[in-house]
Amino acid sequence: STTFPKPAETRILTVANQKGGVGKTTTAVNVAAALAYHGLEVLVVDIDPQGNASTALSVEHSTGVAGIYEVLIDDYDISQVVAEAPDFETMKCVPATIDLAGAEIELVSKVARELRLQRALGKYLREREAEGNPVDYVLIDCPPSLGLLTVNAFVAAREVLIPIQCEYYALEGVSQLLKNIQLIQQHLNPELWISTVLLTMYDGRTRLSAQVAEEVRAHFGEQVLDTVIPRSVRISEAPSYGKTVITYEPSSTGALSYREAAEEISLRGAANG
Ligand code: ADP
Ligand code: MG
Repeated sequence: STTFPKPAETRILTVANQKGGVGKTTTAVNVAAALAYHGLEVLVVDIDPQGNASTALSVEHSTGVAGIYEVLIDDYDISQVVAEAPDFETMKCVPATIDLAGAEIELVSKVARELRLQRALGKYLREREAEGNPVDYVLIDCPPSLGLLTVNAFVAAREVLIPIQCEYYALEGVSQLLKNIQLIQQHLNPELWISTVLLTMYDGRTRLSAQVAEEVRAHFGEQVLDTVIPRSVRISEAPSYGKTVITYEPSSTGALSYREAAEEISLRGAANG
């Protein structure tokens, strides 16, 4: 049986790795889906101009749809742009449109440019709390860069979730990522910490996957979840149907592994108080 305890306060996780294609979006939407599937209140914030998280959750994000761009640049409230994720009763999503591609540059000249997501999210979470419908988990899906969008995510979050693909050069660039997180801790968000590392696209038939897993566990230790996400065709197919693997093929190994990973995350959070 599975247990997904409600956290004492909202947990805000930013899913980050400046490498593209390592499973950030897949992890953000599927962990979110697993938590919502178990009745927890979840908000996904898509902060990648590609809008892949919005797509996977079937949330409208064509040009002209108001989303995270309007929040960051035009001072919209999150409540004005948040959408229901249609497959879930307890999940909402702040979509990203392609307009967001310009935000990286437009943010540079904005007041409090690093704090804009934190402020908007804080306001939204207080509103939800006041309505008696508090959010249990926020998952922020970052773009593959360490620019101002990702900085906004690091400042808004408490926890970082780093997906690492079980491939050659898995740890390449990780030291740069850690350095950036340290800078954020020193200057902008002392509460930020790397709570979770998740091994993705694990191929049990190859020696390479096992080696990478070993190397990552040696490097990060306890932060690495016991659960590893296998390479799975079902996981990669799901987004083209506007679905997470949890809703697309609930009994597949991919869906089960993401549910296990989400359960570990929720249990660890409970243990951390
Ligand atoms: P990122 O957000 O880091 O760029 P994605 O989550 O979009 O990475 O994943 C990159 C590609 O790999 C996507 O096509 C996705 O469907 C696929 N993918 C992710 N995880 C898996 C997996 N466990 N098995 C098979 N394909 C996967
Ligand atoms: Mg992505």
